[in-house]
Amino acid sequence: MASKRQIQVGNLTIGGGAPLVIQSMCNTKTQDTDATVAQIRELERAGCQLARVAVPDLEAAQAIRTIRRQVTIPLCADIHFDYRLALEAVKNGVEKVRINPGNIGEKAKVKQVADACKAAGVPIRVGVNGGSVDKDLRERYGVTPEALVISAQRNLEQLEDCGFFDSCVSLKLSNVFGTIQAYRLMAQRCEYPLHIGVTEAGGQKMGTLRSAAAFGALLCDGIGDTLRVSLTAPPIEEVFAAKDILKALDLHQQGARIVSCPTCGRTQVDLIALAEQVERRLQALQSRITVAVMGCVVNGPGEGREADVGICGGKGEGLIMRKGQMVDKVPEDQLVGRLMEEIAEMTGERI
Ligand code: SF4
Repeated sequence: MASKRQIQVGNLTIGGGAPLVIQSMCNTKTQDTDATVAQIRELERAGCQLARVAVPDLEAAQAIRTIRRQVTIPLCADIHFDYRLALEAVKNGVEKVRINPGNIGEKAKVKQVADACKAAGVPIRVGVNGGSVDKDLRERYGVTPEALVISAQRNLEQLEDCGFFDSCVSLKLSNVFGTIQAYRLMAQRCEYPLHIGVTEAGGQKMGTLRSAAAFGALLCDGIGDTLRVSLTAPPIEEVFAAKDILKALDLHQQGARIVSCPTCGRTQVDLIALAEQVERRLQALQSRITVAVMGCVVNGPGEGREADVGICGGKGEGLIMRKGQMVDKVPEDQLVGRLMEEIAEMTGERI
């Protein structure tokens, strides 16, 4: 049930069955353009495809021009309350705007933003969350999935009344079940692309788990066109977490998929440490590759045969396997380094 509509964000297509887009949000001050550019480049290297920046004031809106010139991936301006900041961000080259028409105010202001975005080919994300549900809906329904969805529909209709249809929607609650219900309802009621995520998800571990639980349910239903894993952690961790979740769902076409054994009484190398090192060093790999990290020669080669490359532990040493064939035997402390050489050769990437 991917959205029927598609939007174009710079060179990115979102919705209508296009591949899922991973996004994140900078936590730098946008007007500190050096820091923001450095962070966006770091996010991009990690696999982020769309970066959002906060635009709380005019200086931040104007900084977009400098940032835009120095980064490749499209930028989304996060605007609240002041429609003039949206106009300024569009003027300065932003590719997407996140607003909530409900908190922009009068119709004439929303119309100005819609017209400017339309003229520049800039889509708008209507971002509704638990805190921004319209007052009357809150009173009638409480902060519930139904209230969130009706609030989003109102916002979308406001834009439609202005002749604007290049929207996407997010509906975020901080609880997982509510979020899933809200997106399911929305997917039945609108054709716009859906930006999925759990708001205020938490720190790195719990935030990733809660996002994974929500994304698992939604993506298995075909709901979701772009996603952000919101974490109380450096933004790069959001990108790694998003990639990991998509890999776990077999939905990510890039990066290393690591299969590793759970260890047992036969393990004679420090496999847990080895697996951690392998995961860390391959976090930013772009090529699609399956890497096996297996503990012993009894089951390792067989279990790792499906992998492109891998290691198989012995006693203080291990084998380097490629497509199920042994290509080298090295001491334990050289296993990861040797595996990385093999992967670098196979993928042509610098690791
Ligand atoms: S691969 Fe070997 S060490 Fe790992 S769980 Fe299986 S039998 Fe145990």
